Amino acid sequence: MTTQPSTESTAFRSAIEVVRGVEPRIAEAIGAEVEDQRSSLKLIASENYASPATLLAMGNWFSDKYAEGTIGRRFYAGCKNVDTVESVAAEHARELFGARHAYVQPHSGIDANLVAFWAVLAARVESPALERAGARQVNDLSEDDWAALRRDLGNQRMLGMSLDAGGHLTHGFRPNISGKMFEQRSYGTDPATGLLDYAAVRAAAREFRPLILIAGYSAYPRLVNFATMREIADEVGATLMVDMAHFAGLVAGKVLTGDFDPVPHAQIVTTTTHKSLRGPRGGMVLCDDSLADQVDRGCPMVLGGPLPHVMAAKAVALAEARQPAFRDYARQVVENAHALAEGLSRRGGTLVTGGTDNHLALIDVSGYGLTGRQAEAALLDAGIVTNRNAIPRDPNGAWYTSGIRVGTPALTTRGVDTDGMDEVADLIHTVLSATTPGTAKNGKPSKAAYTLADGVAEQVRARSADLLAKHPLYPSVDLG
Ligand SMILES: *Cc1c(COP(=O)(O)O)cnc(C)c1O
Repeated sequence: MTTQPSTESTAFRSAIEVVRGVEPRIAEAIGAEVEDQRSSLKLIASENYASPATLLAMGNWFSDKYAEGTIGRRFYAGCKNVDTVESVAAEHARELFGARHAYVQPHSGIDANLVAFWAVLAARVESPALERAGARQVNDLSEDDWAALRRDLGNQRMLGMSLDAGGHLTHGFRPNISGKMFEQRSYGTDPATGLLDYAAVRAAAREFRPLILIAGYSAYPRLVNFATMREIADEVGATLMVDMAHFAGLVAGKVLTGDFDPVPHAQIVTTTTHKSLRGPRGGMVLCDDSLADQVDRGCPMVLGGPLPHVMAAKAVALAEARQPAFRDYARQVVENAHALAEGLSRRGGTLVTGGTDNHLALIDVSGYGLTGRQAEAALLDAGIVTNRNAIPRDPNGAWYTSGIRVGTPALTTRGVDTDGMDEVADLIHTVLSATTPGTAKNGKPSKAAYTLADGVAEQVRARSADLLAKHPLYPSVDLG
């Protein structure tokens, strides 16, 4: 007896078949990717699995449309349907996060940050050139004014979390343009507790007097008190910007509320949409009225034409995030991270700050005698996908590192619960305990080489396959 394939199965099967007719290797790669995702234990804290509706909303004719400008004010004709898409996405974003204004065009998290930096600079920097032009419109400036404005905008200061404490490259660090736009100073964590040291942030802010105080992180396992950060920003006349790229899903799901919800406290908030928020790959800016006009100049100031097909998918994902089920999801993400951290500690693992309050944990693998690079590779051999990450004051630097970052947004989407996370902790501990550092070809100790004891990878892969089989990824999608 044959059963009808689900609507979703039919949609994805048909799409792949149409692609196969033109370039079979890409059809193969698409099929292989979903297989890989289904069969690997994904603990990368910044990844997730978007819903079929979100994925399907991206593959259509909106991709063909140019729509530079903003809703109702486009530089191109024929943008009525794009206006609908962008309005719906922005409305969902405002309602979901309780924001005054939402700008859903940024193509990625980095782009959202660039839009925000420009908006703060343009709104806040007191420039005689801007005043002479009598306008906030850079287009109105003469050549001389423009040259003066460039000088005035230069040399601004940004205070952000240090990279090894979990901050992000876009928060004023050299390999990113933010480090070239801003003079940067970092705040870090207390060496004894590993927790964000607000007194040190305040002291640094008083001394450095930044234009932008930026909060947010990619690898900090605890909560940040944004009310306190705003107090510090106000005290020194800085704009508080929060980059919630990693934890937007926990804000959307109302796990982070009150002092821990950045939206009521920061003048401007940026995010990705594809991490814990579980939407399409992209970015977004939320802000209060004072910055809305500047933020809306993101395209063409910083961004190319918007990606209307991705904005359509953002609207779908944001609509999903407004459902009660998303709150259950966000709560489970945090409970799962807690269970994973507990499980690792109980087995003798060391965690930075001793645990977690959010969706991620940072394992200090030096306790296993390994570098992050060795641990990451051994775990991957056993089918466990993580990433190495520096820990505060990391003796192995940012390349080899001493940490492994693990996060629960993806496995929670599959339906893995706290018991499942305890099994995951056991799998991780089993691999790391069975791994020993190797030597380089010249016989010297190596920070990259390692040996995983015979049979462990196979045994862990089998156990993880059992766990994943209980929680199939995209159960409604059968590619046949
Ligand atoms: C991931 C991340 C970004 C960058 O997002 P992309 O979409 O990769 O550009 C920016 N800031 C923080 C804090 C992040 O974690």
